[in-house]
Amino acid sequence: MPKLPVILNPSAHSEKGRRSADVIRGLSDRIEVVESHSFDEARQIAVEAASRGCPAVAAAGGDGTVNAVIAGLAGSDTALGVFPTGTMNLFARELGLPMGDLAGCWRVIEGGATKEVDLFRAGGGIFVQIAGVGFDAQIIEETTWESKKRFGPLSYLMSALSVAGQRAPRLTVIPEGGGAVEGAFVLIGNGSLYGPAFRVFRNASNDDGMLEVLVFERQSHVDIIRYLSGITLGKVEKMKDVTYLRAPALRVESELPVPVEVDGELSGTTPVEFRPTARRLGVFVPGGEGEA
Ligand SMILES: [Mg+2]
Repeated sequence: MPKLPVILNPSAHSEKGRRSADVIRGLSDRIEVVESHSFDEARQIAVEAASRGCPAVAAAGGDGTVNAVIAGLAGSDTALGVFPTGTMNLFARELGLPMGDLAGCWRVIEGGATKEVDLFRAGGGIFVQIAGVGFDAQIIEETTWESKKRFGPLSYLMSALSVAGQRAPRLTVIPEGGGAVEGAFVLIGNGSLYGPAFRVFRNASNDDGMLEVLVFERQSHVDIIRYLSGITLGKVEKMKDVTYLRAPALRVESELPVPVEVDGELSGTTPVEFRPTARRLGVFVPGGEGEA
């Protein structure tokens, strides 16, 4: 087996990041840690590894790092391994990787079991887990780096309160096959998990070629709390001012440009089209460890 390039989170210069990098380096002499200094560079390293014909590349970081690496691997035969060292690690949790156990994640990669997962493009971006138009993208847009550093996860709540106080945009969601729906904001799932612990898309499967779509009619403080409780109770799809649909592709339009996020990273504004990539991505998943 050739060496496995492990692309490191660009913000791995923090103490926590350095510690994870050391742990990963120490797991095996078949691991080659490659530092990146930006998401763009992380993507570029993945592009080069894929074009060299590397059978596998791993991302060490959070969902932003995973997103940069999948953007580089999309369309190639190179499989993705994940060392979840970020805050949310939604994709790693979706895959059922052992959390807080980097040695366990290495055993998953060594085990060699892979799953082919759907990737979707949205405007100039690509995503494997979730995307949003409006509300949640606006929160990401308003949450500055300084605020994150100062207030941690609370900074998102502060932005959410601010965005919910603003006038909601008017979006038109046009799924492939017709049946346009209007709303204030849209969440789009390839995977089921979003946020700290929300199973937003209960029926999601990331290998069925379909996107799960929730269109929310309003976004005042009271509405957001209501939607969150609907999500927590597992009945958001049935709320009367929420539309749930599934589609292989869709388009979202609005009168004024509204921000779009993919896997938690901003990716342009409306109008935006969500459509599947030509090929799925191989991802290491638990199940092969016993055979290693
Ligand atoms: Mg799906």
